[in-house]
Amino acid sequence: ADTTHLIAVRDLAASYGHIEALRPTSLHVAPGEFVTILGPNGAGKTTLLRAITRLIPSKGQVMFKGRDVTGLKTHDLAELGIIMVMEGRGLFGDMSVRENLQLGAYKLSGSPADMDRRLDKVFTLFPRLKERIDQTASSMSGGEQQMLAVGRALMAEPKLLILDEPSLGLAPRVATEILSTLGALNKEGLGILLVEQKAPLALKLAQRVYILSSGSVRAELPTHEIKSHHDLARYYFS
Ligand code: ATP
Repeated sequence: ADTTHLIAVRDLAASYGHIEALRPTSLHVAPGEFVTILGPNGAGKTTLLRAITRLIPSKGQVMFKGRDVTGLKTHDLAELGIIMVMEGRGLFGDMSVRENLQLGAYKLSGSPADMDRRLDKVFTLFPRLKERIDQTASSMSGGEQQMLAVGRALMAEPKLLILDEPSLGLAPRVATEILSTLGALNKEGLGILLVEQKAPLALKLAQRVYILSSGSVRAELPTHEIKSHHDLARYYFS
């Protein structure tokens, strides 16, 4: 089995009715790698992430840790460790921070000690969540809600964390804090696939970038080869 990739998708494609939002696309994330997907509005970035996690019907092959997981559904993929933080966060607004986090703990052994260990890890990364543990999700600021969404995903102890524009609508300082935390998690070995508009920071954190435009990958390059944003712009509009 091919285990050089954490995840590898081949000829992944998705349509909404007759609109082909994602043309056959191949990409991969290596173990421990941080990969960013950039591209203009409407490029198909969200569609690509939803196709990978099978939140929408999609064609094409998905390999995870050398195993063909093409036929699996979203929750099966989550059990294997493919966890996505969606755009809009998908929190339970009337539930507390603690409850939202607990709901993220997939495949939990059942022991309270295990739950506490996972909670502690999240609180170490986002101390703000600990301060607000009994507050309802909907009463938190946008930045805190995004921290909660990431924290909830981490409760599942993902092998691959997929995030759709976690900085969307956030103040620069909070966006930086959240993206930097992703960088720290990656340094611990977590594989990350990030769609992000905040290109400069996302590029600093990532080892490799794919540029998506009009439903296709226009370029794939290691971030150290990107000298200026002019380099990127020409792919956007090609
Ligand atoms: P953005 O950065 O604006 O979020 P994106 O790169 O994530 O854009 P997608 O949201 O994947 O792009 O959309 C790709 C294309 O598919 C767009 O033309 C969009 O209008 C279309 N599309 C997305 N969702 C649907 C839907 N539910 N029904 C029909 N068309 C859709």
